[in-house]
Amino acid sequence: MVGMDQIAMNMQNGQDLQNQAIGKEKMEKEKRSEKTMNVPFIDLKTQYRTIKTEVDVAIQNILDTTAFVLGDAVKKFEEDFAKFCGAKHAIAVNSGTAALHIALLAHGIGQGDEVITVPNTFFATAEAVALCGATPVFVDVDPTTFNMDPYKIEPAITDKTKAIIPVHLYGQPADMDRINEIAKKHNLLVMEDACQAHAASYKGKRTGSLADIAAFSFYPGKNLGAYGEAGMLMTDDGLIAEKCRRLRSHGEDPKYTHHVIGLNYRMSGIQGAVLGVKLKYIEMWTQMRQKNAALYTNLLADTPITTPTIAKDRTHAFHLYVVRLPPGTDRADVQARLKARGIASGLHYPIPLHMQPAFKDLGYLQGNFPITEGAAQDILSLPMYPELTLEQIQHTVETLLEVVQ
Ligand SMILES: *Cc1c(COP(=O)(O)O)cnc(C)c1O
Repeated sequence: MVGMDQIAMNMQNGQDLQNQAIGKEKMEKEKRSEKTMNVPFIDLKTQYRTIKTEVDVAIQNILDTTAFVLGDAVKKFEEDFAKFCGAKHAIAVNSGTAALHIALLAHGIGQGDEVITVPNTFFATAEAVALCGATPVFVDVDPTTFNMDPYKIEPAITDKTKAIIPVHLYGQPADMDRINEIAKKHNLLVMEDACQAHAASYKGKRTGSLADIAAFSFYPGKNLGAYGEAGMLMTDDGLIAEKCRRLRSHGEDPKYTHHVIGLNYRMSGIQGAVLGVKLKYIEMWTQMRQKNAALYTNLLADTPITTPTIAKDRTHAFHLYVVRLPPGTDRADVQARLKARGIASGLHYPIPLHMQPAFKDLGYLQGNFPITEGAAQDILSLPMYPELTLEQIQHTVETLLEVVQ
């Protein structure tokens, strides 16, 4: 028998439970907004979901036709990407590093030669030079764009200099007119390291068409990313294109006739198929990145955080959104506190190339490149990808300002 008192008690319990539930929900809501919103550095899964049907069909087609190495899908992607960049020839390879390497080999660069590049880049830029037996010669970067400072090039030129490799760092084209002008004067090759700058432009021309030759990476995390390793070379020079084509495949032409010692740097069929699908979206994804960058920049205006500068006559593809923290900030602490609130961050790049153990023999010293070294101390890369939401950007900025103070 359940009496009135019992009913009242049950009702009270029910009310308590409900109050508890409301309290819990409120707490969780607060926890979500203050602490646990997940902002990954990059999110490839979300992007895959938006193109899954097309990508799955393209991959299935490679499985059905067993065109696993080079093949029609790769050839089609070479043609499409060359057209997209405004270049005559594209040579598909299996990484950006491979592209940089064989471009130098195709130009006969090797032992005893010097190649001018920047210390503020990913290791592969200078690694490719060393792989050919040539010597990387570093010049410092511009303090506003972090790209090669053209005024530092001429003092570094010697009678051994053969080439200049500007890097379109973070997705912003280097100052190509000045660099090309100096190269012309000294009869040097210019190669764009465009590995971070698909679909960026300089004076209305796309990367890949801004110098003698260009190297792209399609590493999964790049703006145009494969589902494995891939890369590409871009040039208007038919003879060089032919040399690169041979070099990527054991110096062979036709099959089993080997003209030179080459490498096995061929792009896989599945990567060509995936990239062919993704190329259709690169302009849209680039616009989404640019919009996200503009949001970050607006929200960070008039704060102690220094936001990226876009130089005149250029579009920035925002592979990375890199800010500078106020001097003296404990960056490791900032990163740890961001991470505790679910926000990923990165450093591009914490150790300049002239300070890398592998380049010890080049004989550079701390202090040789103050702009690069200064940047290495206070840069911070914030989450950046096309599908990043407004809420994620707001949460990142609010939390960053809170932890930097
Ligand atoms: C990614 C990258 C490379 C190397 O490309 P991989 O495809 O990883 O070999 C070279 N240079 C720069 C600037 C890069 O960002």
